[in-house]
Amino acid sequence: MLTILRQNIWRVAKRDFSRAWAHTSSVHSVNEQDVEHFTKILSSPSSVISTLSPSFSSSSDLENFNADWMGKYKGHATTVLKPRTTEEVSKILKYCWERQIHVVPQGGNTGLVGGSVPIQDELVISLSNLSKVRSFDPVSGILVADAGCVLESLSEHIAPHGFIMPLDLGAKGSCQIGGNVATNAGGLRLLRYGSLHGTVLGLEVVLPDGTVLDQLSTMRKDNTGYDLKQLFIGSEGTIGIITGVSILTPPAPKSTNNVVLALPSFSNVIPVFKATRQHLSEVLSAFEYFDRTAYDLALKHGHAAPFPAEEVEGAECYVLLETSGGKKEHDDEKINTLLETLLSDEDSLILTGTLSQSPSQFASLWAIREGLTEAVSKEGKAYKYDISVPVSSFAEVVGTVRARCEEKGLISRGLVKHVIGYGHVGDGNLHLNVIASEYNDEVAQTLEPFVYEVVASHRGSISAEHGIGVMKTHALKYSKDAISRQWMRKIKDIFDSKGIMNPGKVLE
Ligand SMILES: Cc1cc2nc3c(=O)[nH]c(=O)nc-3n(C[C@H](O)[C@H](O)[C@H](O)COP(=O)(O)OP(=O)(O)OC[C@H]3O[C@@H](n4cnc5c(N)ncnc54)[C@H](O)[C@@H]3O)c2cc1C
Repeated sequence: MLTILRQNIWRVAKRDFSRAWAHTSSVHSVNEQDVEHFTKILSSPSSVISTLSPSFSSSSDLENFNADWMGKYKGHATTVLKPRTTEEVSKILKYCWERQIHVVPQGGNTGLVGGSVPIQDELVISLSNLSKVRSFDPVSGILVADAGCVLESLSEHIAPHGFIMPLDLGAKGSCQIGGNVATNAGGLRLLRYGSLHGTVLGLEVVLPDGTVLDQLSTMRKDNTGYDLKQLFIGSEGTIGIITGVSILTPPAPKSTNNVVLALPSFSNVIPVFKATRQHLSEVLSAFEYFDRTAYDLALKHGHAAPFPAEEVEGAECYVLLETSGGKKEHDDEKINTLLETLLSDEDSLILTGTLSQSPSQFASLWAIREGLTEAVSKEGKAYKYDISVPVSSFAEVVGTVRARCEEKGLISRGLVKHVIGYGHVGDGNLHLNVIASEYNDEVAQTLEPFVYEVVASHRGSISAEHGIGVMKTHALKYSKDAISRQWMRKIKDIFDSKGIMNPGKVLE
């Protein structure tokens, strides 16, 4: 493990981060005096974890903050601060601004593009102690919460009032609402409830110089000029630290169903999607896709098979669809009619399907799809490409990348184990995963810029939902033209002229 991490530190270090560090003529690493100062301004001694502190006990305390979820990126921070209030965040940033100390905001550290960990020895500011629900209005469904609240705990908070969070993702047990907003996370409910650009009503943000920008509106309508909060949604900690989030939550559906369908061929996905939209219309809430290899990996890594193996022998891919509605009989009738149509079709579009019959079966069908990210990480070291391309080209893109790996001998030499695709059909978002036996330069060079060129040839996006982080700064050009990149740089400079916020992330 250590060798693999070392290789990757080296690989990342080979990239040129001079632009990211160029703004600060004299960047300062955190020193003993800084740690002493932080200890004074933070209310609890446990809010400071630092190798430079006399009370520091074990370097394993820092490891989790320095390594990302995939074990692909690793930093060398000596110090992590865990403020408890917005005021504490403000004091920290004011000091870092004056001293020119680089900082990395960190939420649940579940990001998949290396944005939440330092590149060098930046100061990590963890939001995990900012974890209070500030208010919830059970009439409007408007929730105001500290940025460090874990997504799942917010779902549990509002469930007794009959509401759900408008977003859901496999990392819900660890990711934080502030991290979700900072990455503009998509997830499994986007098809139904839209993106965070629509559901987030307001934000409280501490700007790089420590100023608190209070945009924590709880109004649904506010047409008073530039909508500043939108700039922070998806900004990945590069222009400020989100400390509070106001979000519109929808009423929990009274009735839900889900079904997994096995398809003989990828070419059936679009006709099945079309039929599904026609039949289910307003009750359709998710339409997810996973190819055969992804499904097999989910089963291999512990998920229960929804079908007997012989029934799905010839399946090339699967879809999971979900309905969420207000009346069970009405929704059941719709889904049954859909299934009858799909099965009775002369050239049957599906091989078979399993419709959940109980809450536990509903959960276990979802677990197959939600567990894919984890199954992939158990199988090997994943090169993850989270791309937007036309749905009709999902299989072609996966096939093209697999052919490239074959042509370069990566598969025959065991360097690449699988090339798989899964994702959100309803949103045109494909998760292309190349699972390697280890992170390795030859694999990386085979895949990049090749994958980005394939995406650009479809006029797609190199990042549909995971963001740019450190992984894709060099590839931003494939999705944003020069003028757009110049304006992004100008926006970054307006907020963070000293370049202290998350250097080397999003922009080179
Ligand atoms: C199993 C699994 C499944 C996933 N499924 C999905 C999915 O379906 N859809 C999806 O979009 N993503 C998915 N992800 C990726 C990840 O969970 C999301 O990006 C998530 O929103 C990150 O939240 P976090 O709190 O963990 O943020 P972190 O990983 O800690 O940080 C992510 C970025 O946001 C910044 N940041 C964090 N908190 C703040 C803050 N308060 N203020 C300013 N900047 C901040 C960080 O600096 C970093 O750049 C998945 C990840 C895993 C491990």
